[in-house]
Amino acid sequence: MFELKTVQVIDGDDLRVSKPCILAEDEGYNCEWSTELTVDQARDEYIKAWVLLHVLARELGLGRADGFAFCMSVGYDLQYADAVPMLRRLLKRSAALGLFFGVKLTNTFAVKADRGELPDGNIYMSGRALLPLSLRVAAMLRRDFGNALPMSYCGGADAKNIALLARTGLFPVTVCTELLKPGGYEKLYAMAAALEAAKHDGLTPDAAPLDALAGTLCAPAKRIPSRHRAMGLPVPDEKADCRAVCGVCASVCPNRANVIVTVDGRRQMLHLDGPCNECGNCASFCAEKTLPYRNKLTVFTDRAALEDSQNAGFTYLPESGRFLLRWAGICREADPADEGVPPEVGRVMAAVRDRYPWLLYR
Ligand code: SF4
Ligand code: SF4
Repeated sequence: MFELKTVQVIDGDDLRVSKPCILAEDEGYNCEWSTELTVDQARDEYIKAWVLLHVLARELGLGRADGFAFCMSVGYDLQYADAVPMLRRLLKRSAALGLFFGVKLTNTFAVKADRGELPDGNIYMSGRALLPLSLRVAAMLRRDFGNALPMSYCGGADAKNIALLARTGLFPVTVCTELLKPGGYEKLYAMAAALEAAKHDGLTPDAAPLDALAGTLCAPAKRIPSRHRAMGLPVPDEKADCRAVCGVCASVCPNRANVIVTVDGRRQMLHLDGPCNECGNCASFCAEKTLPYRNKLTVFTDRAALEDSQNAGFTYLPESGRFLLRWAGICREADPADEGVPPEVGRVMAAVRDRYPWLLYR
């Protein structure tokens, strides 16, 4: 399923998205209300994904090569009383045009940030706290529309409940917040295995199992201890190593912007500047209570990217075969073995150049 993010008159750098923008320690919140891509960049990404989906469908035998749908977010503040007549009009209109129409429930829920969770006052809920709300909406729509309205689902799905959700006829079920927690994308294996046994015939949810599930999963939750972190940046810390390279910051990064390399037989955590959008998720889970995207040795794709950052790190200069290094706040061209380059940093630079060169490029 393609989801076209909000279409708007400003995009890219003009958006000024507050950072960090994700807090997924337990239930999820974010304050990033739109894509940071320009419209042209977003178009390019959708075209690439369109091509890739055709290739995957064919190579992996995943069904029809055009068996995917475009989906569009319509207004975070839509009220139920307004939604019902709007959906009736859209159902009627799509039937007249011979098109398939359904809704996605619910994706997010706007709430006020009153404990400094994130920099913005208005934040958007996801994850387990959204599950009872989304299921209730699904049950209400099933009651009001009978079996006329197909519904896809997004709100607190995980490996434990995804089969239960799919068996009601909510389909497809999509997942995001769960993948931002330790385990990351690896969790998709358990979800796929659970879904193997979840069969449902028909395009719309069934009332009885949906009501039963809403009754079960919407019961009052156990109180979960609050673990809100203090906001603000920690003191800059340029050490190249973690005391123990736990790898959690790599598994929770949605953009694969933290990687583990092996240098002289030891695991070394590296941050990649290029794919990082400073969402802050890795900081939520760092065992050393640091900001991996600010404090860990960073690999930059080029000189301009390094000069645009404050992070300690390096980029390779292919024209001279040397590096541009920022260390202790000072930028200079250097070779890994130069005097003044900390030996542990020089060894990482050489290892990246010789054994992990793909980390140097976009
Ligand atoms: S490395 Fe960057 S993109 Fe990845 S979780 Fe950390 S802040 Fe977010
Ligand atoms: S930066 Fe933090 S989360 Fe990442 S490996 Fe080091 S201690 Fe673990």
